[in-house]
Amino acid sequence: MNSLRQRPFNFGAGPAALPEEVLLQAAGEMLDWRGSGMGVMEMSHRGSDFIAIYEDAITGLRILLDVPQEFHILFLQGGGIGENAIVPLNLSGGGVADFLLTGSWSSKSWDEARRYVRTAHVAASAEPDGFTSIPPASRWRLSPDAAYVHVCSNETIQGVQFAELPHLAALGSRAPLVVDCSSDIASRRFDWQRVGLAFAGAQKNLGPAGLTVVFVREDLLGRALPICPSAFNYELAARHQSMYNTPPTWGIYLLGLMVEWMRRQREGELTGVAALEIRHRRQAGKLYAAIDASAFYTNRVAPTARSLMNVPFFLADTRHEAAFLDGARERGLLQLKGHKSVGGMRASLYNAMTDAAVDALVGYLREFERQMG
Ligand SMILES: *Cc1c(COP(=O)(O)O)cnc(C)c1O
Repeated sequence: MNSLRQRPFNFGAGPAALPEEVLLQAAGEMLDWRGSGMGVMEMSHRGSDFIAIYEDAITGLRILLDVPQEFHILFLQGGGIGENAIVPLNLSGGGVADFLLTGSWSSKSWDEARRYVRTAHVAASAEPDGFTSIPPASRWRLSPDAAYVHVCSNETIQGVQFAELPHLAALGSRAPLVVDCSSDIASRRFDWQRVGLAFAGAQKNLGPAGLTVVFVREDLLGRALPICPSAFNYELAARHQSMYNTPPTWGIYLLGLMVEWMRRQREGELTGVAALEIRHRRQAGKLYAAIDASAFYTNRVAPTARSLMNVPFFLADTRHEAAFLDGARERGLLQLKGHKSVGGMRASLYNAMTDAAVDALVGYLREFERQMG
């Protein structure tokens, strides 16, 4: 199957653009997956065809992200917001958990956990500066008895990203680090030594909505509270290869195609996630440079905390916003409106983003400024 024309460039924050190659492959296999006589959506999750799809997806993902053997990879449902409850139900023992508040998503995680833990302790918060920076580790007040420490590695709404994952052991903490990496999974290398559990909804960098990927270290299983729903019990999920109940089969299949695509990506000598990281630095670098070069556009995030995935920006004169978005749409630049809670614009540059799309956006920024200026 071939695409009939060039598709517009999609800067949506999620569910987000997927590579055309992946969509075409899924379309080609929609009615009959590799001679099985069935589409993937129609297969039993316990049949040999689907088990092969599952095995390929999980093995490919482990290789792509270099996930150590002591981590289980679980394919669940419920999304990132579901994990905000599922994590405390599984890990907190009802005790103390620490939270670093760096934007809307970590704040939401903290708020939800308060229902399940005795103390949801705010170890640091960037709210006073409007979530435009990451508080330095020297100012974190970690609890000595925390069951875990929660961070969001990339705040999708504010466009704030940890330059590297927190190193809790170096700060004298033995608590496992929990990372919500929904919007930057598989965009850069991940230091698993620093992590106890990581979770991500698939719909930004990995595939379609409806699939949540959880990476959980073996020693963290078996701690669930009695009220934890069976479908969300990590130990049960791990013991049943994510098939305690019906997993999101279509999402797992598309994740598998996406993983193959990511493993094929190349930048010079580098492949896979290392290549994607180079690409993200180049694309985000270009866009931030264009924003910084102009008084017409601004991004307020501290340069060291700027996200490579989500680039929020504001027009100096908010009265031009509607015209900006209309002009963008006419040029095939879609979904640039910022999140309603912060306003302005936002360009999300996930794994499927192309250099051509970023160049087109940068060109449009200049053109619109000239028109209005
Ligand atoms: C999108 C997102 C979520 C929400 O995921 P849902 O699938 O809508 O539950 C959570 N955390 C982060 C960082 C996100 O970007």
